[in-house]
Amino acid sequence: MGSGSSTEAEIPNVTPIVDQEELVRPIKENGRYRNPFPTYEDRGFTHLMRLMKDFALNNISGIPWNNKEELDKTLPVLKPDIETLAAGEKSNNLRAVWMGHACVLVKVDDLVVLTDPVWGYKCGPLGKMGAKRYRPPPCSIDELPELDAVVISHNHYDHLEYSTVVKLNKRFGKNLHWFVAEGQAKWMRDAGCEMVTELTWWEEASLEKHGHKYTIAATPSQHWCQRTATDRDKALWASWVVQGPRHNFYFAGDTGYCFGFRQIGRKYGPFSLAAIPIGAYHPRWFMRPQHCNPEEAVEMHVDLRARRSLAIHWGTYVMTVEPYMEPKTKLADAVAARGLHEAAFTTVRHGEVLDLDSETVEDR
Ligand code: ZN
Ligand code: ZN
Repeated sequence: MGSGSSTEAEIPNVTPIVDQEELVRPIKENGRYRNPFPTYEDRGFTHLMRLMKDFALNNISGIPWNNKEELDKTLPVLKPDIETLAAGEKSNNLRAVWMGHACVLVKVDDLVVLTDPVWGYKCGPLGKMGAKRYRPPPCSIDELPELDAVVISHNHYDHLEYSTVVKLNKRFGKNLHWFVAEGQAKWMRDAGCEMVTELTWWEEASLEKHGHKYTIAATPSQHWCQRTATDRDKALWASWVVQGPRHNFYFAGDTGYCFGFRQIGRKYGPFSLAAIPIGAYHPRWFMRPQHCNPEEAVEMHVDLRARRSLAIHWGTYVMTVEPYMEPKTKLADAVAARGLHEAAFTTVRHGEVLDLDSETVEDR
């Protein structure tokens, strides 16, 4: 109070937005990207200082670090049944596994895609600093099924990890197709990726695989990028659409709530499945522009016209101060408050294979 910055009480649960018809584009000035959304605000040094204080004084995350039994109960990690997931013979199905944080392994018809793969225990520079992982990855990179493509939402360390990229390249080599937002391709090539496609918002690439044609499109998100002291916003952030012959999948990555999702829903929806972030939202006065809360995540689900959504970006790394299981309960409350079916947007267990075979876009 008194500093002119908003208090928690003044911040609405859902950021009010104004939509527009014309497809929104990122702004680029002096080699750096900016969000075009009125719902975005930059966070500066004074905000950071206040955030540090909140971390020190108001951290109520309550993660039982030394109680594995408790964590196994609240956030069980299952060994994914890869054979069920891959089920190569049967085409045109839709299966998904939450691999922790923003990483989802998804089979869209016959295309196997991995999103924001991060296998490390510390996500930060050199894998030694940064947020600590409190739930392990459900399987190793060697245990993954054959992958066709990886989509990367942005270059923050909890979404793009050098050692994971190297291991994926070692296992899958030049057969793996990487999709990144504008400005990130060089980093990927330097890390050994051979097939890299760099797209800006609303740009599409087509992929011929397993006898089908797929479209992969970069779409907006409200976020930012940074890996080093000097590279802030020199690469773009994005969300991704994977369209197959029968199913389509949407990956939101990491984002605050903005009008971009209505545009994505209008252009590419309805979606068979969307992966939407629900965690890392506290303190709201700091996080709101870059991380949606569960209520806003539900608005995104509606805006996107998603038939089913699964929750990501929670329950894996400690990044913010909200109680660690709060995203799950708040999501269920928000789904009920919005009058949606309880299965429309849910959390899933780490490593659990979701079989959405029988659900097609046409059923809607
Ligand atoms: Zn981020
Ligand atoms: Zn993140």
